Amino acid sequence: MAKTCYNLDMIHTRDTLKINAKGHLEIGGADCVELAGQFGTPLYVFDEAYIRNMMAIYRDTIRNEYGGNGLVLYASKAFSCEAIYAIARQEAIGVDVVSGGELYTALSAGFPAEYITMHGNNKLPGEIREALDAKIGMIVVDSRSEADLIEEEAAARGMVQDVLIRINPGVEAHTHAYVQTATPDSKFGFSVANGAAEEMTAYVLSKPHLKLHGYHCHIGSQIFEKQSFVLAVQKNLAFMAQMKEKLGFEADALNLGGGFGIWYAEGDAMIDVEGYADYLRALLSTIKEGCRAYGLRLPFVYLEPGRSIVGEAGITLYTVGAIKEIPGIRKYVAIDGGMFDNPRYALYQSKYTAVLANRAAEEATELVSIAGKCCESGDLIGVDFNLPKARRGDLIAVLSTGAYNYSMASNYNRNLIPPAVLVRDGKAEYIVRPQSYADLVRNDVIPQRLK
Ligand SMILES: *Cc1c(COP(=O)(O)O)cnc(C)c1O
Repeated sequence: MAKTCYNLDMIHTRDTLKINAKGHLEIGGADCVELAGQFGTPLYVFDEAYIRNMMAIYRDTIRNEYGGNGLVLYASKAFSCEAIYAIARQEAIGVDVVSGGELYTALSAGFPAEYITMHGNNKLPGEIREALDAKIGMIVVDSRSEADLIEEEAAARGMVQDVLIRINPGVEAHTHAYVQTATPDSKFGFSVANGAAEEMTAYVLSKPHLKLHGYHCHIGSQIFEKQSFVLAVQKNLAFMAQMKEKLGFEADALNLGGGFGIWYAEGDAMIDVEGYADYLRALLSTIKEGCRAYGLRLPFVYLEPGRSIVGEAGITLYTVGAIKEIPGIRKYVAIDGGMFDNPRYALYQSKYTAVLANRAAEEATELVSIAGKCCESGDLIGVDFNLPKARRGDLIAVLSTGAYNYSMASNYNRNLIPPAVLVRDGKAEYIVRPQSYADLVRNDVIPQRLK
């Protein structure tokens, strides 16, 4: 069989992406060539059905396997814009936010504050005030001075804020070092091993305007091993049992964080919707067994998937421009995007799969690097993509760009951050409108003395 851009069989197991009779890539029933014609490139495209299916499978698994005693929080740092909060609201799940800006976006989309959790290793005093003013459901405390700040602000408002403490259970997840967040040396959380988590528990319990419900841990991102999550849950439960014994504090909530891996490229597992339900089922049964063994009551469970909800739901469409072949070395195919819309290769050498979207069924005969248009040699979408021979004007789709692409985009080189469209039943609508050059200078000021 001819080698195509990617494993067609794998793609066809998903409903999101297909190759249609014209040989064009389709997402959510929309022809990518038509999308590029209608909206231009670069363009982020999201399949609404995929997002809803993922939100629903986590929600329903908690409902069916855990008596509904929990809440899925979409980790909105993966992709934040008003429409995604509107979808989360319709799917009856919560969200987590990690900044005042994400909180503002959620609230401006009409998202109910009580279902919002706030994270962050250095929440600013202003962000804490904004969270309390909005009366968000939960704050995950990540430093001692932050506990003081929340206490002070809650006291001033005559309210009691529900909180969790972020702990670091010391589980090493096998993933890229830069996206690991719960090793003993981490800016996140309080270590269980060195006693900091216990000390913090006692400290928060002493605060009259903080209501401690339990713990949060997030062991990293893009993790595939079920065992890493299971181990983290076991360590959490052991710690909860210890706190009950030592401090008489029995947690009634446990937040397991996010981190489920997604498919980016050959070598990554392809997990279907049911597979993600399996991860969650494994965690829930670990909680049930552990609580039985320790004699703990079953905690209310939070799960915070980000990447697995939106990552594979999104693709980015680019138009091919300059092509440069360096004999014996490599061939660069340059696109009209780059690190300003997807900095993940520049940051982590992340792997992606690319498809020549207007000739998607053609045999892949070339190995190329896809270069961005920024003035940085490191501005690549990646190296070693199998593609049919690309020409200026061809359309390239980079797959699995729904998470941490738009949300990490910048105006570097004063490039415009691409718009985003949401596809449902083959029809696309803007969820993020295009920027204009005028937007770039909107906040610029020339002091009088320079005029
Ligand atoms: C980033 C993050 C998540 C989401 O992680 P994913 O890998 O996108 O699922 C959840 N919780 C916290 C605290 C995070 O920092």
